[in-house]
Amino acid sequence: MTEKNRMLSSRECVDALMRRYIEKGEQAIKENPSLAEPYHTELQGDWVGGIPNKLKILGHSFDVILIDDNETDRFGSMNPNTNTIRLNKNKTQSQIETTLLHEIIEALDHNLEIKLEHRQISALEAGLYQVLKDNKLSF
Ligand SMILES: [Zn+2]
Repeated sequence: MTEKNRMLSSRECVDALMRRYIEKGEQAIKENPSLAEPYHTELQGDWVGGIPNKLKILGHSFDVILIDDNETDRFGSMNPNTNTIRLNKNKTQSQIETTLLHEIIEALDHNLEIKLEHRQISALEAGLYQVLKDNKLSF
């Protein structure tokens, strides 16, 4: 089978989507450099740089905290014991947004005991992010 005709694995699709959105984010920063400015972490107002500082997920109130995480270089994490989502503020706007979506899916997966594989969570993250973003959906 030639490389051209080969079906892409779901992992490759997710990687391609992520690359596309990282490139899009970088392009957006070129056009609007203020997007790359670091987020501030104080919980003030409802939204910081398009990221809410609180989310209701299945009746639980989650704190969303932007942290300075150069040490682990992780994109984010979700703690189901403290209902906290942490996002690494040293990432691009699109990376932070898609990571928030990822952690929301993690919270749903945990609370609803869906037991998704981690790659399924990442695939939903990339797919939902593309559809929501490209269609500017906010219900
Ligand atoms: Zn994860």
